[in-house]
Amino acid sequence: MTTLSLPAGARERWVRTGGVELCVAELGDPQQPTVVLVHGYPDSKEVWSEVAARLAGRFHVVLYDVRGHGRSTAPRPLRGGFTLAKLTDDFLAVVDAVSPDRPVHLVGHDWGSVQSWEFVTVARTEGRIASFTSISGPSLDHFGHWVNARVKRPTPRRVGQLLGQGAKSWYVYLLHTPLLPELAWRGPLGKRWPKILERVERLPGGAYPTASLPADAAHGAWLYRDNVRARLRRPRPDAYAHAPVQLILPEGDAFLSERLYDDLEQWVPQLTRRTLPARHWVPRTRPDQVAAWIDEFVTSVAGGRPAPAATGRRAERFGGQLVLVTGAGSGIGRATAFAFAEAGARVIAVDRDAEAAARTAELSRLVGAPEAWAEPADVSDEQAMEKLAEKVHREYGVLDVLVNNAGIGLSGSFFATTTDDWRTVLDVNLWGVIHGCRLFGARMAERGQGGHIVNIASAAAYQPSRALPAYSTSKAAVLMLSECLRAELAAQDIGVTAVCPGFVNTSITATARFAGVDEAEQLRRRQRSARLYGLRNYPPEKVADAILDAVAHNKAVAPVTAEARGAHLLSRFAPGLLRRIARVEPRL
Ligand code: NAP
Repeated sequence: MTTLSLPAGARERWVRTGGVELCVAELGDPQQPTVVLVHGYPDSKEVWSEVAARLAGRFHVVLYDVRGHGRSTAPRPLRGGFTLAKLTDDFLAVVDAVSPDRPVHLVGHDWGSVQSWEFVTVARTEGRIASFTSISGPSLDHFGHWVNARVKRPTPRRVGQLLGQGAKSWYVYLLHTPLLPELAWRGPLGKRWPKILERVERLPGGAYPTASLPADAAHGAWLYRDNVRARLRRPRPDAYAHAPVQLILPEGDAFLSERLYDDLEQWVPQLTRRTLPARHWVPRTRPDQVAAWIDEFVTSVAGGRPAPAATGRRAERFGGQLVLVTGAGSGIGRATAFAFAEAGARVIAVDRDAEAAARTAELSRLVGAPEAWAEPADVSDEQAMEKLAEKVHREYGVLDVLVNNAGIGLSGSFFATTTDDWRTVLDVNLWGVIHGCRLFGARMAERGQGGHIVNIASAAAYQPSRALPAYSTSKAAVLMLSECLRAELAAQDIGVTAVCPGFVNTSITATARFAGVDEAEQLRRRQRSARLYGLRNYPPEKVADAILDAVAHNKAVAPVTAEARGAHLLSRFAPGLLRRIARVEPRL
């Protein structure tokens, strides 16, 4: 097994406490706020290497091997050597050594989070912890109360929640059996674990976990045996957090139910919630997002500001994410940029109209985006898009969400549509989407941390019309491209959605072209269609809402507006009727 090392520049030292020696590593400038990262089971401090490397530029980052793990020595005897009280002693010894004068920002994953909950809720650490970020590891006290509340008042829903979490905790029962876990970890399980993590948890392959895994896992079984049953039986009644807490909740966690945290507000006066479409090992699979959230939270707490401004489910899901929207200077694109901004995402507004893009970026900052940028680009221009992608990846990072929205309208019969008309509409509506998916999607996939691509198609993608052959063809191609890409990117946890709006009141009516008519007729038709769209009066903000919803729920196709949903149903169950409607010539 290859060994995973800490980022370059890590300084290791030893801290002695309670009969053990703890291996402590430090990165970054000790004058900056100190962030202490505590690993889980069966891990060592190296599980944090990717996150630590990202934080080290702005913080004094400290990691340590929990007793009995990695390069830290194990207590003798093992039984009784891993109680939460002893783990709290260790934490205080580390903090005394690395940050004697200032409270630290604590971050825990898995069992690192379970023990950190103890640190942040016992009186003797008061004043030593400035904030706590909890990832995938509940307080055993809160868990105990959660179970008791459901056992005492067992409604069907609550019994379901108990059974759900009970099933997810199968490994906890196994870890309580004598010797079996030790034999398994030092034998076949220890050997297969890296492959299991790769396959089941989608961890990037390579140098993880470290060579100490079998010993870590065997020793760590005592974390469970020394604490779980005792605490669940008699949870502390006063386990209140004395520092602000940020909860990062991976939605696909195989070991913990989201419901476990339903009652958390009663224990934590200042709670910020985040959710992430990911599995359990987010320090390895989503280091960009985890580091960004820690950075934002620590910076706001250290600066004396309340925790991040955006709140609610949208902020939990999209806060801090990097989102790029094309055609963001107007209509659906602008509304979508604002909706992501309101959710606390960092927004890149792209439009061929530089001024309109700049305005969207400026307003995005005002409505809640921590950062927003404007980038002028024509999506149909391959070279311009390559330059844009290069700049975005260099200056802002790899996207979490890409919205290929820029598009133009073109109406007119097939024979009235010239080859130039075809080229123009396909260049923007189809090639613009292809360039976006190719250039930004490739980096998303390469990063291996998931993401989402939204392509704005149209109800015209599945609703034929004699009046819109070129536009409908371009949108049908976008719909199929989205479906194919969705299949290809599923393995990388990248969702792809085709959004299909009906009639939406935007300025597309003012710019759409009508093929085969003179200028005067063109103007008349534009005015008339603008009037009709105005009468329908479906606002682009509602489409933006549907886009965020589609991303959050990873929908494949999202028809928006009643007419788009109706046509979608007809296209499946009564396509003949749609074909008849397609023959009707619209009177404009
Ligand atoms: P919009 O108000 O006209 O906004 C589109 C934006 O995209 C405009 O700022 C436009 O700039 C920009 N754009 C156009 N071509 C571009 C290019 N080559 N490169 C960069 N930016 C470009 O239209 P919308 O209604 O919001 O449309 C957005 C998307 O929704 C389009 O794909 C459209 O096909 C689709 N859609 C709209 C409706 C609807 O009823 N409105 C229905 C179904 C689907 P300019 O102003 O300079 O052209």
